[in-house]
Amino acid sequence: MNILDSVLPQINQLTPYTPGKPVEEVERELGISHSVKLASNENPLGCSEKVTQLLSSSSELCSIYPDANAFYLKQKLAQQLGVTPDHITIGNGSNDVLDIIARTFLAQGKQAIFSKYAFLVYPLVTVACGATPIVTPALSRDSDQAYGHDLNAMLNGITEHTSIIFIANPNNPTGTWLNQKELYGFLQQVPSHIAVVLDEAYFEYVTEDEYPDCVQWLNEFPNLILTRTFSKIYGLAGLRLGYSISSPEIGNLLNRVRQPFNGNSIALAAAILALEDQSFVEKSAQNNLHSLDMMKQYCHKKGLFYMTSVGNFLTIEFPDQAMHVYNQLLQKGLIVRPVANYGLNDFLRISMGTEPQMNQLMRTLDELL
Ligand SMILES: *Cc1c(COP(=O)(O)O)cnc(C)c1O
Repeated sequence: MNILDSVLPQINQLTPYTPGKPVEEVERELGISHSVKLASNENPLGCSEKVTQLLSSSSELCSIYPDANAFYLKQKLAQQLGVTPDHITIGNGSNDVLDIIARTFLAQGKQAIFSKYAFLVYPLVTVACGATPIVTPALSRDSDQAYGHDLNAMLNGITEHTSIIFIANPNNPTGTWLNQKELYGFLQQVPSHIAVVLDEAYFEYVTEDEYPDCVQWLNEFPNLILTRTFSKIYGLAGLRLGYSISSPEIGNLLNRVRQPFNGNSIALAAAILALEDQSFVEKSAQNNLHSLDMMKQYCHKKGLFYMTSVGNFLTIEFPDQAMHVYNQLLQKGLIVRPVANYGLNDFLRISMGTEPQMNQLMRTLDELL
């Protein structure tokens, strides 16, 4: 026997999360420079200037422990969301919050439901707890939310062992979304002892009228947990900060499982400034809509199928040549994201960049296709 024989069996079956290829790695490997990363749904405009200023003068924050209760950030968020601070739980990115939720509600013998093509962190956190993933079929390709979550299939997946249902709205990598009516009807049908986790990482990007603001439903559905992040529209992916919004009772449980200093000092200070700079958020959302529009038009022109997306990325089909296109783009310094690990072998997920970046991408695709 050695230490590797002591590992929990389900850990051996896990596939590690595959992140987007870092710029430095591509440039080091190919000996190129000025490459463009459109692979991790990062904000192409960077972050608020207020945050940039903070970072140039925040060295004293490095040597002291963060405020484990994130007092000022929770106050600010609570004010913006119209809830009290005890509804909010801080995470080291929202992935950390998802992990905390899983460790709070899951164990061997319990089940978590999520859709086929849902965000890959759900199976990771489920299996790591020893629980069983129940993967329900996605909507068909000819649906107007092709490959999106099928809420009826998810309801049908419920058993006496179900403890969590994970829903990404919009989902990554499909970009598909659920409207207010569908989601509300779904919540009414889920037994109230099952936690419904609504992952809203792209909430601030969505401009659809029918997209729900679920905070208003927290009182009616005490089993509802929303997760959001500073990684996407706020452009703070490197600082790692996310949070959940739930009933104070659930918040209290999550806070027992949570590592006390999972939100670092610089991230907490930066997040407050980022929340105050809503003009940066608007500018980022507008840039995103514009780039999405350009890219969708390009797909129409080229006859390329793409998934409906309200996020900051578009998942496009390149039949039988997705990896070829990926590698060719890489050679030209354009990093996009293969999604074969989601079972989407013919697709590439492309994060929306600035207009010049999108033009560069489309010119390069023109040469390839
Ligand atoms: C990017 C993303 C997250 C956020 O991850 P962080 O840990 O907050 O950086 C969460 N859920 C989905 C669906 C995402 O795409």
